Amino acid sequence: MVNTQPSISVLGATGSIGDSTLDLLRATGNKFEVRALTANRDAAKLAKLAREFGARFAAVADDGEYFRLKDMLAGSGIAVAGGRQGLLEAAQVEADTVVAGITGAAGLAPAFAALAPNRRLALANKEALVCAGDVFMARVRETGAKILPLDSEHNAVFQALAGSPAKSAERITLTASGGPFRKTPREELARVTPEQALKHPTWSMGAKITIDSATLMNKGLELIEARHLFSVEPSRLDVLVHPQSVVHAIVRFTDGSMIAGMSMPDMKIPLAHCLAWPGRMEWKAPVLDLAQLGTLEFEAPDLKRFPALRVAREAMEAGGAAPVILNAANEIAVEAFLEGRIGFCEIAALVEASLARAEKESLKEPRTVNDALAIDHIGRSIASALLPQFAAKAS
Ligand code: NAD
Ligand code: MG
Repeated sequence: MVNTQPSISVLGATGSIGDSTLDLLRATGNKFEVRALTANRDAAKLAKLAREFGARFAAVADDGEYFRLKDMLAGSGIAVAGGRQGLLEAAQVEADTVVAGITGAAGLAPAFAALAPNRRLALANKEALVCAGDVFMARVRETGAKILPLDSEHNAVFQALAGSPAKSAERITLTASGGPFRKTPREELARVTPEQALKHPTWSMGAKITIDSATLMNKGLELIEARHLFSVEPSRLDVLVHPQSVVHAIVRFTDGSMIAGMSMPDMKIPLAHCLAWPGRMEWKAPVLDLAQLGTLEFEAPDLKRFPALRVAREAMEAGGAAPVILNAANEIAVEAFLEGRIGFCEIAALVEASLARAEKESLKEPRTVNDALAIDHIGRSIASALLPQFAAKAS
């Protein structure tokens, strides 16, 4: 008998995207066979999930945690691997769908390794496209893998574009909630704490993307993600602040028609779309009650208070190595902010200064994943070296 049960692997199974994916599998009666699951350090959670879902393979990035994972899964029949190589192996385990849910540039090599013929990649890890968009999309074409955008805005764009010629999409607008500081005066932004910044008004997500949403860097990274996913010039992409987060993106076509993608702000909805594509999943999805909501608000983003979006757009327009530096410096800046070493306003300032510093090095555009990772390393070194100046400014 032919096994028709679809199979799935989840890279970043212990994070927010991982939780949403595995919750959706539970909620829909475990119709998928789970193949590989990965985590960064949390071997205990990974082992528990691997047993619950009967995974074939579990990999933890942290070398030290590998032995713990091995002990915890001893006798289970689940193969175990560790380190960077272990993650690449996990990404290559045979599976119909791979969910790329690792955060940051660390997700690039595993997501890239997952590209294979007949493979669907449900991509949440936007940083992979920010760091190596051209290389990544060339590999998608070469392998015939299908990328299904999981980021809610891009998922909405993907759905809105279906059935229309790609060239007819005149303008693609991504919405942003505006984050917790949408109405905070500029002077007060300097004093906001990590705790306040981690309180996202509409979405529940990992720490890094939550801070990126507060600075609007997330929307900048998403513009770059959209540029590669949909192969559009930067001038056709823009951002609209929409605090209710129920309209995720809007595509305007050459005939004047506009198609908006809407749903409750719950990642399980775009996930359900990716997992069932080109069909539609039947499940008890949270339903958006527009009469109860009453009004939808939209406003232009304030680039004076949220300069990260301007800096990201400039990096997108500059192209080459700039988006890689943008992302690397941002990862360093967000970590420093979360550790209380720099203030909120210094995040964008450090990223901008890192980009200016990197420009002097005349870095070449990445042509391989290794090139992108080498530039990422340079970006981190530049931002780390500049960090003390920004820490001083914040205090
Ligand atoms: P998270 O921090 O909650 O989870 C990250 C996952 O990646 C965890 O499983 C963690 O163990 C793993 N990980 C972290 N660093 C790693 C490393 N160095 N090596 C290997 N594994 C590592 O993050 P998240 O909120 O789930 O976001 C994941 C990605 O999805 C990000 O790129 C984010 O921008 C994107 N995304 C998330 C959401 C959301 O709702 N959370 C929505 C849209 C897009
Ligand atoms: Mg998003």
